[in-house]
Amino acid sequence: MKKLFSIENLTFIAIILGILSGIYLKDIVINLKLVGDAFLSLLKMITIPLIFASIFVSIAGLATIKDIKNMGLKAIIYYFSTTALAVFTGIIVVNFIDFHPVDGLNLEKGEFVHKEFTVEALIQSFIPSNIFHSLVEGKVLHVIIFAILFAVAVLKLQSEKKEIITRFFDGVNDSMLTIAKWIINLSPIGVFALVSYIVADKGIGSILSLWQYVLAVVVGLLIHAVMNLGLISFLIGRFNPFKYFTKVKEAILIAFSTSSSSATLPVSLEVAEEKAKIDKKTAGFVLPLGATINMDGTALYEAVAAMFIASLYGIELSITEQIIIFFTASLAAIGAAGIPSAGLVTMTLVFTAVGIPLEGIALILAVDRFLDMLRTSVNVWGDLIGAKIINRFVK
Ligand code: ASP
Repeated sequence: MKKLFSIENLTFIAIILGILSGIYLKDIVINLKLVGDAFLSLLKMITIPLIFASIFVSIAGLATIKDIKNMGLKAIIYYFSTTALAVFTGIIVVNFIDFHPVDGLNLEKGEFVHKEFTVEALIQSFIPSNIFHSLVEGKVLHVIIFAILFAVAVLKLQSEKKEIITRFFDGVNDSMLTIAKWIINLSPIGVFALVSYIVADKGIGSILSLWQYVLAVVVGLLIHAVMNLGLISFLIGRFNPFKYFTKVKEAILIAFSTSSSSATLPVSLEVAEEKAKIDKKTAGFVLPLGATINMDGTALYEAVAAMFIASLYGIELSITEQIIIFFTASLAAIGAAGIPSAGLVTMTLVFTAVGIPLEGIALILAVDRFLDMLRTSVNVWGDLIGAKIINRFVK
């Protein structure tokens, strides 16, 4: 009985009820924005201290610089290869679909606010010029870079100093995870409020007119999440992804409801360490970094969206252009922050590279939030699989 009413099951029920009441009780649930926002704020409240402390502790807890390189290299190889696989899957799926013109979509309609994303911006997003500013602004990538440098420097201190600092941040890390546990207990309520509000606010009618595009993204995401990542788990990780999913599903449900990998991070860390028993050092390094740079779902979606919009404009994409999409979509996903709609902004990189009009992005705005929920779930699932695989290799 207790199992039946576990937080995970209740959260799942909350999503279903949220969707239904967003459709049928629109006027009531539209008032729940406050509750959903409060839940999101609780998660975000601990994200920055948790990212800093977990990365720091995981690196400072490793014995040598060689260990860091070892784990870092494995993580990077995993991130890049799975992101590439995701984009490739998206491109293949689109090549099977013959997109036809969408009724009622006006190509001139430009509610999209330009905010171009460039390679320079990508590089800048890695280097903090004032770490306190970055902490306050919640610039996750900056915080990660600084935490890594700081931890490596601490590794070089004499043991007494090193001990004090490491223990301190270890304590910070553990207490943040305790708060995460408390917040997780609220997730059925928070998730219900978030999902019902989004459905009531956006209305799901838009999905119908863009069904071909939505279908392409959904099918691509499913293939990547179940087949690609599933096979990688079996073959390289030597574990059963379905069993693993049952352990970490709370994080996926939160990712779906919040559309934010960063806000989900406290939950991912908690389930990975407590339920899936992944070593704290591995999870503490692979998950925060993954939440920021490893976005399989986003990469896949960027490629599909670019190719869909190109076809609406009647642009025929050559193989070379599809290869450019492959690289730029991967880059754009790495550059996307773990927050809602981040992928939509970094998509300008892909569009500019192949010359698709940026206004085209406005055409898919209506369904973007729904697809964001799905791609974020795949992003977090990819991070969690990565943590489990890398855990096997560094042990
Ligand atoms: N919302 C996504 C995430 O947080 C990023 C994106 O694709 O917009 O993972």
